[in-house]
Amino acid sequence: MHFDSCQDNNLNKKKRVLIKFSGEALSDENGFGIDLDVLKFIAQEIKGLYEEGLEIGIVVGGGNIIRGVTAAQSGLIKRTSGDYMGMLATVINAVAIQEALESLGLCVRVQSGIDITEVCESYIYRRAIRHLDKGRIVIFAAGTGNPYFTTDTAAVLRAIEIEAEVIVKATKVNGVYDKDPNKFKGAKLLDRLSYDDALRDHIKVMDDTAIALAKDNKLPIIVCNMFKSKHLIDVLVHGRGEFSRVG
Ligand code: UDP
Repeated sequence: MHFDSCQDNNLNKKKRVLIKFSGEALSDENGFGIDLDVLKFIAQEIKGLYEEGLEIGIVVGGGNIIRGVTAAQSGLIKRTSGDYMGMLATVINAVAIQEALESLGLCVRVQSGIDITEVCESYIYRRAIRHLDKGRIVIFAAGTGNPYFTTDTAAVLRAIEIEAEVIVKATKVNGVYDKDPNKFKGAKLLDRLSYDDALRDHIKVMDDTAIALAKDNKLPIIVCNMFKSKHLIDVLVHGRGEFSRVG
């Protein structure tokens, strides 16, 4: 892998990455539910990356089903309950991704931050590491297990815990721009920005809590497009193609 390889003296050691994508990435054109063709595409992209020899952790959001903040706006559902509903939504997405990856012959475990043992394993850090060491992909579900957080923050937290070398925020855009590329024609992709730049500008791709946690732990954040075929391999294995690096 391209990033920080100079710090890695053990050339046989596999590179460990954590890939985060939002629940909306899985959704249909209305931004809701799980589109099975999209699910299949994402699974194939992750398989390609796995076959390059990377150890892969995944965090998926739940925004395609429910978000606590949005649910609470109705006044009908308390924020805390809405957040727990959102975390459960991520478990649904995680199981869908597990099934899609397994249908391609990969070995996958889902670990949840909320005990839901009939459905998947509970998150146990040492067990997660063991799965990764054995070449299994681990999907971390139910966020941090706590309300008032996001799955971006959960993704950074899990990445730090499993000692991933990099966290990848996989999106529908190519990276971080100096202005909104949907509104401004001349918007420029930023190759690299510091954590402080990202915090100051409140970049939309990741929330401030997640960026601050990454900063404190010197975890590089790569923002790139997951919907261009083989792009994850280009970025993470060959260090080419369009992406932004934070940190
Ligand atoms: N959530 C939470 N704690 C966490 C992670 C997620 O309460 O640690 C809830 C929160 O309500 C959030 C929802 O789960 O809105 C879905 O996650 P998120 O909005 O981050 O999903 P994404 O936007 O990535 O699809």
